[in-house]
Amino acid sequence: MLCPVCGAPNTRVIDSRPAEAGQAIRRRRECEDCAHRFTTYERLEPQLIVRKRNGRLEAFSAAKLVVGISAALADRPVSGSAIERLAEEVEASLRGHGSQVSSEDIGRVVLERLRALDEVGYLRFASVYKEFQDAADFEKEVAALESAE
Ligand SMILES: [Zn+2]
Repeated sequence: MLCPVCGAPNTRVIDSRPAEAGQAIRRRRECEDCAHRFTTYERLEPQLIVRKRNGRLEAFSAAKLVVGISAALADRPVSGSAIERLAEEVEASLRGHGSQVSSEDIGRVVLERLRALDEVGYLRFASVYKEFQDAADFEKEVAALESAE
């Protein structure tokens, strides 16, 4: 954490205590260069929940998103940092939708962004996304058959 006054990188925590009824930790810090004291708060990052096609919920994983996008962009002239930036943009856009998103929302947002970045990657992702939807439709058919028995 940089000192807000002199910008030095070395600050130390001189006090740490629970705040906001245990929802945060308040820390007093002191700059080792100019001795300025300031306060930081540590809070839980709001969780983004993904509703899958089968109705199950799971925590959003930025790592999984990067893996999926990277697979679509294999051998394409797109740098790792561009992929990470894309994943961050997708995550930011999803968080703007609220605390819960569906698998379809994620696929749709990725496709929108990929189209502008790399056409081949876009087409590959679109075909995987479509197959995924077909697979989910298949699962739904099976479930319908099972419940009819
Ligand atoms: Zn300082």
